[in-house]
Amino acid sequence: MLVKGVVFYLDSDLPTEAKFLLEDFRLAVNNAIRAGLQARVTSRNALNKLVYKDFREQHPRMYAKHLVSAFEVAGSVLKNHRKRVRKDVTCRTPFVKRLMMKAENQAYKLDRGSGIMDLPIMAGCHVELRLVVSQYHRKYLDDMTLSLGSLTVLPDRVIVAFRKDAPKQFVPESALSLDTNERSLDGLFVEGDVAKAVKADFPEIAIIQQRHHDRRKRLQKKKTHDRRTSRNLCRREGTREHHRVEYRLHQVADSVLKFAEERRSAIVLEDLKGFKSKRSKELNRRLSMWPRRKLHQIIEYKAQWRGIPVVKVNPRNSSRTCPVCGRIQYSRMGTEFVCNCGWHLDRHITASMNLLQTAISKGMAGGLRFDPGAFQHDVMMILYEPAMAARSEPNGTSGVVGVT
Ligand SMILES: [Zn+2]
Repeated sequence: MLVKGVVFYLDSDLPTEAKFLLEDFRLAVNNAIRAGLQARVTSRNALNKLVYKDFREQHPRMYAKHLVSAFEVAGSVLKNHRKRVRKDVTCRTPFVKRLMMKAENQAYKLDRGSGIMDLPIMAGCHVELRLVVSQYHRKYLDDMTLSLGSLTVLPDRVIVAFRKDAPKQFVPESALSLDTNERSLDGLFVEGDVAKAVKADFPEIAIIQQRHHDRRKRLQKKKTHDRRTSRNLCRREGTREHHRVEYRLHQVADSVLKFAEERRSAIVLEDLKGFKSKRSKELNRRLSMWPRRKLHQIIEYKAQWRGIPVVKVNPRNSSRTCPVCGRIQYSRMGTEFVCNCGWHLDRHITASMNLLQTAISKGMAGGLRFDPGAFQHDVMMILYEPAMAARSEPNGTSGVVGVT
């Protein structure tokens, strides 16, 4: 089952009754957390037995289903807490600070045509929430293959989970192998007997991150006398950076998947699990900031949603091996991979060839074949370039390519 959370903003302020409900919900969650910690239980049912009766007495009219989902939220908070305790991380007693509530799909009604939500507060009291519905939301509301899942209510917005069964993956007729780099995805598209280079360029992401990093440093220096302001300003910078980067990652992933879907390609990616590097501190910071795993997550999840097969292979030595003779080169290389056997090509594309060959040799990319000799040197297919995002930031966080 695949789940996609979609955020809806509210047309007007949350009704007072609903605000009280959020507060009661938070209270219930925090009570359950405390009780669960004392009794050392984390499951929803155990919490239910433990605190339901007491809370019922204090809030005799609260809708019972909401109370049960409060225990579920408490349970997941407790599980996370237990994990941290086991890892020996010192942490405070957990509690929920934010005003929020969660409701199961039987505990609310949404009219998918009009975007009006009916939320029960307690026996005999319902509130009506009008959601702002845009074209983006219509896509989910009108698609009847999607069923409604749980609901999260926050003071200014609600998040509705849409669910569907994972579609069956198609049988690949071609392959798109991608090597993930700091500023681009570089790779190879193989169809029949021809192989072409592909590229998705996103130099902006690194620039945005560098700019925000510099700004945070400057803020910290300027506000050393006021930790609170400094922290708030830095957090704001962080949120902005997050949004800007995330937006671009989604754009990149969308164009890659569109390409793969149209040509019925399997996507081959390197498996980044256990990826470690022994490099300078500065380079490590840059590489760890570069959200390659995030990009892979987005690609994988969107591919699942659309039924596009994704193959992940161990990237070990993929950038060092010659795709023709298999010799491994340990010496440093420039932008070009040069082998004694006469093979020479852009090293990123060479890496993606090796990824593809690993995938094929393990039978992971359908019945596809690939021969390095079939590579057409003069063709480059562009999957994505920054101009396609068509949104530059006004305040100097994006800008001239190549400046960091
Ligand atoms: Zn060679």
